[in-house]
Amino acid sequence: MNSEHARLSPSSRHRWAADACPGSAREEARYPDKPNKYSIAGTFFHQLACECLETGYDAKDWPSLQIAYGVGEKYPEPTHEDLAAVQIYLDQIRFDLDKNPGELWIEKKVVISQEHWGTSDAAIWSPETGLLRIYDYKHGSGIFVPVENNKQLKSYACGVFSLINNAEAVLEVENVIIQPRAGGKAVRRWKVDREEFLTWPSEIERDIAAASHPDAPLNPGKWCKFCKHAPNCEALRERALITAQADFSDLHIHPSELQGEELAAALRQASIAETYFKAVRDHAFDIAKRGGSVPGHKLVKKRPVRKWISEKKAATILINRGVDQPYADPKIKSPAAVEKEVGDKGITRDLVVSESGGLTLALNSDGRPAVASSAAADFSEKPSI
Ligand code: SF4
Repeated sequence: MNSEHARLSPSSRHRWAADACPGSAREEARYPDKPNKYSIAGTFFHQLACECLETGYDAKDWPSLQIAYGVGEKYPEPTHEDLAAVQIYLDQIRFDLDKNPGELWIEKKVVISQEHWGTSDAAIWSPETGLLRIYDYKHGSGIFVPVENNKQLKSYACGVFSLINNAEAVLEVENVIIQPRAGGKAVRRWKVDREEFLTWPSEIERDIAAASHPDAPLNPGKWCKFCKHAPNCEALRERALITAQADFSDLHIHPSELQGEELAAALRQASIAETYFKAVRDHAFDIAKRGGSVPGHKLVKKRPVRKWISEKKAATILINRGVDQPYADPKIKSPAAVEKEVGDKGITRDLVVSESGGLTLALNSDGRPAVASSAAADFSEKPSI
């Protein structure tokens, strides 16, 4: 898998596009990539999916595959739910290929321009039907990614299109996002005819021109989330300030009285303010983690939750102990759910461990003990304050 990133990557095109924040490409280029547990997990499951498609294995066969990346210290052993999600992606591609035979490209580097290139998860070109399908797997569960007009997939489609020898034969393009863990439909498709597809290259050119201009403007919006420049972005700070002031001067409008477009506008503004304040929290957390002082705050462990040490072993033992269905499809029930069902007879100390999800910054009045800043280096969690 290719781990390099283009300056204008397809995955961030929703941010640097002409109708979003063209200046973000210039600003984000100043920061290094910082892997976190979500990006490490994403890379691992993409690699697993890629190797399964290449070898014919299923996701559950992952121990037989040579996937060294991320497992162990960086990423824990995949859960039943993780593997079930990857399997949905594999099954869909295999089914589509069976129904509509053609050429399958897996993890193919596609170049749209010198600065705009990326890696398409999978694509199937079926010359007999004239259908080009572009697949994108999303392992994340936090943000539901719609497929219609998705700029990332439009870019991949244009890149894959340029690899086809008889491009005249492409009659339809279908973009497919497979995101099983975010709720809603796991497989989402959006198909366009050739005429509409041929408008995409000029749309991309317009976005590249806007983002490549030395004075490309900064424009805060919902795309600020995950922007690397957000902690230092003056435009975002100003917009958050205006939003906060407007909110306080409009306190006579009770949230429950907001309707329609006014409600939607308030939600958009709230999202910008939240992004700004999240950047403030991240910054304070970083200072505390490095041993600095944030007056009135301290580092504490997140509240621990019980989880199975080994899901497989726990399921086998729980069945022997009278739990009919230890799996709540597609994953094993939590220790709390099993306890509710059979009492604490199923939950013995050899099966569960209480683990905190990391550190968080809390008020000094919080009852949890403070964690020494030297211990903070052992945790890479972002704050959830
Ligand atoms: S934080 Fe928002 S406004 Fe600032 S550069 Fe990033 S996307 Fe643009």
